[in-house]
Amino acid sequence: MLRLPYQVVRGFKMSSVDQSMQLLRNQAYVNGQWVNAQSKAVYPVTNPADDKVITEVPDMDAHDTKAALDAAADAFKTWKKTTAKERSSILRKWYDICMKNSDYLAEIITAEAGKPLAESKGEIVYGSSFLEWFADTARHINGEVIPSPWPNKQIMVTRQPLGVVSIITPWNFPFAMITRKVSALMAAGCTCVIKPAEDTPLSALAAVQLAEEAGVPKGVINVVTASRKNAPNVGQVLCEDPQVGCISFTGSTHVGKILYGMAAKGVKRVSLELGGNAPFIVFPSADMDNALENAMLAKFRNNGQACVGANRFLVHEDVFNKFVTGLKEKIAQKCILGPGSKPGVTCGPLINTAQVNKITGLVDDAVSKGAKLMLGGKVASNIGNKFYESTLLTDVTPKMNIYKEEIFGPVVVCYKFKTEEEVLKIANSTRSGLASYVFTKDLGQAFRMSQELEFGMVGINSGMLSTTEAPFGGIKESGIGREGSKHGAEEYTDIKYTLFSALDK
Ligand code: NAP
Repeated sequence: MLRLPYQVVRGFKMSSVDQSMQLLRNQAYVNGQWVNAQSKAVYPVTNPADDKVITEVPDMDAHDTKAALDAAADAFKTWKKTTAKERSSILRKWYDICMKNSDYLAEIITAEAGKPLAESKGEIVYGSSFLEWFADTARHINGEVIPSPWPNKQIMVTRQPLGVVSIITPWNFPFAMITRKVSALMAAGCTCVIKPAEDTPLSALAAVQLAEEAGVPKGVINVVTASRKNAPNVGQVLCEDPQVGCISFTGSTHVGKILYGMAAKGVKRVSLELGGNAPFIVFPSADMDNALENAMLAKFRNNGQACVGANRFLVHEDVFNKFVTGLKEKIAQKCILGPGSKPGVTCGPLINTAQVNKITGLVDDAVSKGAKLMLGGKVASNIGNKFYESTLLTDVTPKMNIYKEEIFGPVVVCYKFKTEEEVLKIANSTRSGLASYVFTKDLGQAFRMSQELEFGMVGINSGMLSTTEAPFGGIKESGIGREGSKHGAEEYTDIKYTLFSALDK
């Protein structure tokens, strides 16, 4: 296996964990080559736990992106002609290699994204599961033969790969958000160019290093690294270049709308996994221990920085005090703040200063307008400048910013409700529609909630929904399309209808 020694970085002091990083790369990956930016520009990737520079990576621009798209378009000519069995076999090998390297991959995620090592390992298992799943799916992307209304004619429907896919991903699941897309599009016969988030390019580079080892041909996967300054230029080329057939984006609704607008100019296919605002609803009949356990999972995974994270805890007035008291105890017991690489830590740092400022602003605004702070409420500056205390707020009202926004941090916000009708109205009063959670033992109520909640995913008595077998995605402003499941690969295919005529001639 290719194991590069760490390459010396000009003028930066490295974080101590870097010395052991087996899969660390500091170049982008285009057409099967490890490359620098044509301009030679670089930017530093830092560890959010201590702000130390892990390495520098190329700060690529529109020219580099065009070169990567050319490589992907070229590779498409041959990749689309591989058999489903060949694609399946390569994906399966990539899965095996990722699993074998899960400790090394997890180390990189923790270093650049900050999450506790156990969560990083969980992300590798989750992210790799898509490689395994789509290795199977590759061989089941079937067409149909439809009975024709005419004599001597046949209607054949096939699914064809739609070409080069542009992928733009966020920092919160820097490995899984890539494998979830790339596995599906490769199974379908497409090729891609990936632009990972500025904060977390190293997981993407480590993943493609393993893809190369698994035998993914040159040009099928390309990675363009870029700083936030260059993201709009790179994004524009990824959306508007005529060689691109689809833009597959995971990130905020704000950026998703910008990309959707650019994709519209070329009438390109889009797959958009955008922001959420998940309600977590607790009815009086709920098993309280189960609701509390799942509240912790739904809120504190990745320290609240998850699109499916519970954003609004809506608790019936009869069980409100019990829930809030129980949750306060659990948070105090289970949320152990610190660097993700430290054993026992369950909540790492926030990803960057912008996130810290956002969470601080939301909590301060709520408290200044009368919200009651039950726990936390500030940066734990004794640990570092990006560690925000696990926080619990009650008495939140619609005039506070935190009432409407996706918090994306370790802040629990509890609201009281009286009736099923009222809670549905509150839960649905958002333009987001990704995940939702309901806790009740009343079967009829569970069914009604499943029907009436305007969200792409509903967890009944569970705070964890994501799995490769199920379709992941949102409605309203949370996105378009589904990832995982039997539908995931369809996003990257075009339906072609061929009429065979004159069959008697
Ligand atoms: P973001 O600001 O939208 O960034 C996502 C990606 O888009 C990053 O790679 C970013 O690059 C890039 N980007 C930003 N502006 C761009 C532009 N003008 N053109 C092209 N690319 C651009 O989101 P984030 O803060 O990284 O992630 C958090 C958001 O993602 C949350 O809203 C969360 O709910 C959502 N999310 C959704 C899902 C889902 O499956 N539905 C999963 C995870 C996260 P830079 O890093 O350089 O800014």
